[in-house]
Amino acid sequence: MSKIGHNKVNNISRRRFIAQTATFGMGTAAASLLAGFPFANITYAAKSPIKTGTRNKVIKSNDEWKRLLTPEQFYVTRRKGTERPYSGEYLYNKEEGIYQCVCCNTELFSSETKYDSHTGWPSFWTPIAPENILKKDDYSFFMRRVEVLCSVCDAHLGHIFNDGPPPTQLRYCINSVALKFIKKVS
Ligand SMILES: [Zn+2]
Repeated sequence: MSKIGHNKVNNISRRRFIAQTATFGMGTAAASLLAGFPFANITYAAKSPIKTGTRNKVIKSNDEWKRLLTPEQFYVTRRKGTERPYSGEYLYNKEEGIYQCVCCNTELFSSETKYDSHTGWPSFWTPIAPENILKKDDYSFFMRRVEVLCSVCDAHLGHIFNDGPPPTQLRYCINSVALKFIKKVS
């Protein structure tokens, strides 16, 4: 009887220790991320990875994704590609609805936050929920950018820039092929 009780206490304190370590680790990472980083005003950059820890991830091999996606969808979402500007099917879409992840159907953006940035890619000033996306530093092509990924399946979606409209001043520059539009039923 007392042995069971002892084990329980041990488990609880071990869990608490792991949680504290994780929180501390995240804080340090966030601090070094924000130091000397041009997008320091993206204040919730470090929060998404914590929240997504509670979600069920969708994990598939590249072969599985190849079977499920078109070659262009695979190239953009699983190989971090970029569709040609002004080529995406949702660039001028003004219908009301929800944009889901093309890989796993997670709801990512709403038509209510879509705007025309004149950049050639669908642009949004905020995601549908901060925990539905992940943000990651991207140093490819000799640039410092913030990559946006689906938090459930890690699909590459696009990048975030700080030249967006109010109220966030952010521009989520997203590839059409990474999205699936679900029209609102009126
Ligand atoms: Zn996804």
